[in-house]
Amino acid sequence: MNELGKRIAETIASQGPISIAEFMTLSLHDPQGGAYASRNPIGAGGDYITSPEVSQTFGEMCGLWLVQCWHNQKQPKKPMLVELGPGRGTMIRDVLRTFHSAARKFLNEAEVVLVEASPVLEAMQREALKDSPAPVRWVKSFSDIVVDRPLYLLANEFFDCLPIHQYLKTEYGWCEKMVGAKDDALILGLKQLPVPDAVLPPGFENAPMGGVYETNPGAEAIMGDIGRGIAAHGGAALVIDYGYTAPAYAETLQAIKRHKYADVLSAPGSCDLSAHVDFSALLRAGGVEGVMTSGPVDQGDFLAELGIEIRAQRLILANANDAKIIVDGVKRLIDPKAMGALFKAVALTRKSDGAPPGFEVRKK
Ligand code: SAH
Repeated sequence: MNELGKRIAETIASQGPISIAEFMTLSLHDPQGGAYASRNPIGAGGDYITSPEVSQTFGEMCGLWLVQCWHNQKQPKKPMLVELGPGRGTMIRDVLRTFHSAARKFLNEAEVVLVEASPVLEAMQREALKDSPAPVRWVKSFSDIVVDRPLYLLANEFFDCLPIHQYLKTEYGWCEKMVGAKDDALILGLKQLPVPDAVLPPGFENAPMGGVYETNPGAEAIMGDIGRGIAAHGGAALVIDYGYTAPAYAETLQAIKRHKYADVLSAPGSCDLSAHVDFSALLRAGGVEGVMTSGPVDQGDFLAELGIEIRAQRLILANANDAKIIVDGVKRLIDPKAMGALFKAVALTRKSDGAPPGFEVRKK
């Protein structure tokens, strides 16, 4: 076991088993050994690659989406531009460049706030934004932000790394999966006492024996806060991630190390941990009074609808030597066999503002 694994095992020995959520938090954010806290896991040389790192057109399309929403909402004054979990800062840089050319007035009055838990990634974001066209500040958590103005928010691959709880359906009821320690190794076990059925969403009484229920209370709390912010002050939120809408009663927690699947428990902090996002739960939480929820739509359809291919053609005209890289990048983002169908987009806007762009795509 590695150093972080040993420390987790010691905690368990003295205090008892911990939830999967606590294990995820330690694996990702432990100040010494956590996957995000101690190093950069994103990019070709890291554990996994994300859409903004595949092509600049991704951030540009997300930026244009926000610009379009802001225009459609009659350009509200003093907006707040927020990104949750900006990684290496690539997307927010592309977004700010897009605002700079398409909506300079937005930037003149905007406050840019980045929500980042990792000091390593915050340092990379500061570097990426050295020449930012608007002042930027950093906070550790969305709850540190007082939403008192129109909120324009982006989150790509953020919600998938927030900690989940897992429950297994047994003959005694739904029991929470826990991480314990035995013979110098971390192991999975079950809490003896089942949770009351009322804790589960409607329909779960039909789950098969051995089915797994995953829940992400932190993600739902953030979506609720975003929804309330938008209901009160206007704005728009775009969330892109991989996930599902109907429960498969299957577990989706996964560990990725250097672009390959790895064991979740054996070397905490050395691999990335994430779980598929439950879009229905996120939209339920964000869809508070006065808020319209849109999606999910496939990332490929969403980007195509916003005109990513036209943007790629323009880029090629200006950078003919990079034509193949640009075409391949866009293809990877929109091809259903690559990232186009696995990833999905959802949005929150005010009901009174009407439907946001990009969500009118044909239902398949
Ligand atoms: N959006 C980026 C990075 C995705 S990785 C991209 O698409 O490339 C997830 C990001 O969320 C990282 O920046 C990570 O440090 C941050 N993060 C993870 N958990 C967090 C938490 N609980 N609070 C704040 N930031 C968090």
